Parts: sequence; structure tokens; C-alpha cells
Amino acid sequence: MEVLAVASEIFPIIKTGGLADIVGALPAALAAHGIRVRTLVPGYPEIMTAIGSPDAIQAIPEVFGGSGRLLAGRVGNTDLLVLDAPQFFARTGNPYTAPGGEPWPDNAFRFAALARIGAAVGRGLLAGYVPDIVHAHDWQAGLVPAYLHYAGGKRPGTVMTIHNLAFQGQFPRQLLSALGLPAQSYVFDGVEYYGSVGYLKAGLQFADRITTVSPGYAAEIRSDAGGMGMQGLLRARSGVVTGILNGIDTAEWNPATDRRIATPFSARRMAGRIANKADLQARFGLDADLQTLVFGVVSRLSAQKGLDLLLDALPTLLAAGGQLALLGSGDAALEAAFLDAAIGHRGRVGVVIGYDEAMAHRIQAGADALLVPSRFEPCGLTQLYALRYGTVPVVARVGGLADTVIDANPMALAAGVATGVQFAPVDADRLRTAIGHTATLFADPPTWRKIQANGMGCDVSWEGPARRYAALFRDLVAARAA
Ligand code: ADP
Repeated sequence: MEVLAVASEIFPIIKTGGLADIVGALPAALAAHGIRVRTLVPGYPEIMTAIGSPDAIQAIPEVFGGSGRLLAGRVGNTDLLVLDAPQFFARTGNPYTAPGGEPWPDNAFRFAALARIGAAVGRGLLAGYVPDIVHAHDWQAGLVPAYLHYAGGKRPGTVMTIHNLAFQGQFPRQLLSALGLPAQSYVFDGVEYYGSVGYLKAGLQFADRITTVSPGYAAEIRSDAGGMGMQGLLRARSGVVTGILNGIDTAEWNPATDRRIATPFSARRMAGRIANKADLQARFGLDADLQTLVFGVVSRLSAQKGLDLLLDALPTLLAAGGQLALLGSGDAALEAAFLDAAIGHRGRVGVVIGYDEAMAHRIQAGADALLVPSRFEPCGLTQLYALRYGTVPVVARVGGLADTVIDANPMALAAGVATGVQFAPVDADRLRTAIGHTATLFADPPTWRKIQANGMGCDVSWEGPARRYAALFRDLVAARAA
């Protein structure tokens, strides 16, 4: 089976969040099921460098006022199709925002171009290549199912995956015809979305199947509280909505072979963790004390991630004898507040502002617990890395966090199955209680070691998720053939 994935980022080449990890990992995981994935991505400079100088396989004479070419190349284990359209993508830095943090003013056309070409490849633009399914990721690829729908005729099956419903891709209705969408598409059951053209909405409207990245989030997005405006559509299409948990790249995130951390370790050789804790404390300017409970955070700093709640709860964390090592970037006010906290609590709070893949690994390897107080979380990856590294996740009971962490309540402790700490509802008071509970568990080494061991024994690989995607793809192909 041939699947064409369409996505705006891909690990390890260009990444702003979990989307890239999944787009990067799924092809290899699906190969084991006889499914070949080619991934269409924009030709950002990072991508152009990574693929070297392959031959163009297709000229694109015109796409929304620009021209370009399609390149085919292989990076690592991934087959890429690259839309080399310099007018849209020859810009360094963040794929979505200008250096000042504002969205690129032509984002509507940049990602419409990606989707337009994705749809064209789906309909046989490339000689000898006919995908069975086009798999569109997030709003940047949301127009693919719409373009295929309005093109009419024979088309591949379409799957739309929601990695985060908060990013919806809304653009002015005046762009409709310039985007190559017919006038009749601007309706309730077309691309219209609260008075604008909705890219994610379009994908959710027209895709044959909708997936999101955890069963919990699949339920939340159909609720009034979590639907962010899409709940009506998602409820109407409930029969085709599925939640499939993300896996993680267990080679990239393997404490036994991780070259980025101070000392390798494994569930059977946990002694190596101590050196990583010492290394982490040194790097974050924390007092060198191996008895102290070190909380780690690796996160975008945004309202979604609930780190303002952590600022509120910081006195409790410190009163419980804890230290904090935080790596993150994003919201300027949160960045400033955490930097202030580090100055105010030297040796107890260490903060690195920025995006640093190696440092993310070091936090997972050296912290005792990982805090993820998200207000909503489609799947969440950092708690999965934490499980694998014996870092006890302390998480809000939402979305994928609720699905992947077993709370250390008395019953789960008695049954010997706890893997972390959950709290709900998501507010500063409950976070304080969770931090206190974590400190109590940490003070009881046999219990703590058991929780760590349980987490490290969890299967967080792509094996199970890949099986589910493969089954979904096969089911869709069979249903369309029937
Ligand atoms: P989201 O996609 O909403 O940001 P996820 O938990 O799904 O959240 O994925 C976040 C990914 O980005 C993880 O791989 C995490 O390690 C990484 N990450 C987030 N912030 C940073 C940072 N400042 N430095 C390095 N990696 C980060």
C-alpha cells in the first residue's frame, strides 16, 4: 500500500513540536506493515539542505502566483517529496512565523500551495505513482481533502489527523477564489468556518477518516468544553473519528544508548541515573544535592501548557524541598517570569530559555519527576519520554496525559501498577497537591523505585500505534473498493 503523507514539519529536519516527531517516525513504523509512506513537505532551507541536490521529478509551472518543482529524496529512513517553491518557503527560522513572532502574511497561500500539490500528487501528478491514501496532518494540510473533493473524479482515500485542535488555520473569506476553491464551497458543509475559510475545518469536513492522537482527546474534541468550535462537526462525523496514541522513537529516546546524556542507564542499571542528575544540577546551576527531588519541565511556554500554574505553585515546590530545571520557550511573559524565578531562587530554580534537543534529553535523564500541567494535551510526548527514562511524570488528567500515565492513588499503588501522578481539575491548587504527593512518594524509595520501574516497563513504542494506523488504512481502502 502507498500512503502520501502531507505535513509542514518533520523530525529530525524541522520541528516546532510533537507533530514533527510523529510525521518523522510513522513511515518507518508503517513499513513493517507493508505500507510505504512518502511525505510531502515544504522546501524550507533546512529541508533543501537535508536532501542535498536530487533531480527534480516534476516541474510546477504555477501555484498561487509562484512556480516551483517537486524533488524526491531520502533523508534517513524517510522518503521525502519536497515542494521547492522559493517564493513561499525560502525563509529561515520558524516555519509559521516571521522573526518578530507574527504569522507570515502569506501563510494562507504557503500552505494552500502545499495542499494543492499534495492533492495533485494524490490524483496522479507523478508518473508511476498512485497513492492509495493521502494522510493530511493538521491545518497546514487541511485543504488536501477539500481540493480532492472539489476536483471530482477518481481520488485516493483521505485521512485527516488532528495533532492539536487549537491550531485551526483560519483565513479571510475574500481569499476563497484566489485559493482555487469554488464559490459553492463557502458553505456550512464546505470550507466555511465562522465567517472565514477554515483549513482544518475543510479537512475535517471532507476526509474519509479523522484521527487524533489519543482516545481521550478523541472524546474531548467532541465535547462542548474541548471542541474549540469544531465539536458540532466532529460529533456529526463521530462514526469516522478515532483516537490512536502516539508512540515515540525508542531508538532516539533510549537511556541505554543516548549519546546526549552524561551516563547511559537502564531499568536494570539505574545507578547511571545519579551521574545524570549531578550533570543536570550542574548545567542548571542547581545546588549539588543528590537527595533533593528535582522536577523537570520540557515545554513550549504557552497557555496550553499550564506553566503559569507552575509559577503559582512554585512556593509549594520549594517548600517541599524540591528543585526545578525548566527548558522552554514561547510566551515572552512566561519566559521572563521563569527567568525571574531563577534569579530569585538561585540554586533551587534553573531555567534555560530556548529550544535545545540535547538539553531535553538531559532533563529526561537527570530529573526525578517531569511536570506536565497542561490545560489540554492531545497526546503529549514528554511524559512518554519520561516513562522511558524513569522520570516520574506528574501530569494533568487531560487528553493523552490521562491515557498514558497511571496515577499513584492508593488502589494503583496497592496493585503495583502506578506509573506517575495525575491531578484534576487543572488548577494551581491541585498542582500543589500533586507536587506534595510526589514529594511524599519520593521520600519512600522502594515505592518510588517501583513507580519508576513500572514506567520504564511501559510499551511506548510505535509498534501498537502503527498496527492501528495500518488497520485503519487497510479498512479505508477496503471500504472504498467495496
Ligand atoms: P507540543 O507538540 O504541543 O509542543 P508534545 O509533548 O506533543 O507537545 O511535543 C513536544 C516536543 O517538543 C517533544 O519532543 C519535546 O521534547 C520537544 N520540546 C518542547 N520544548 C522544547 C525545548 N524548549 N527544547 C527542546 N525540545 C522541546
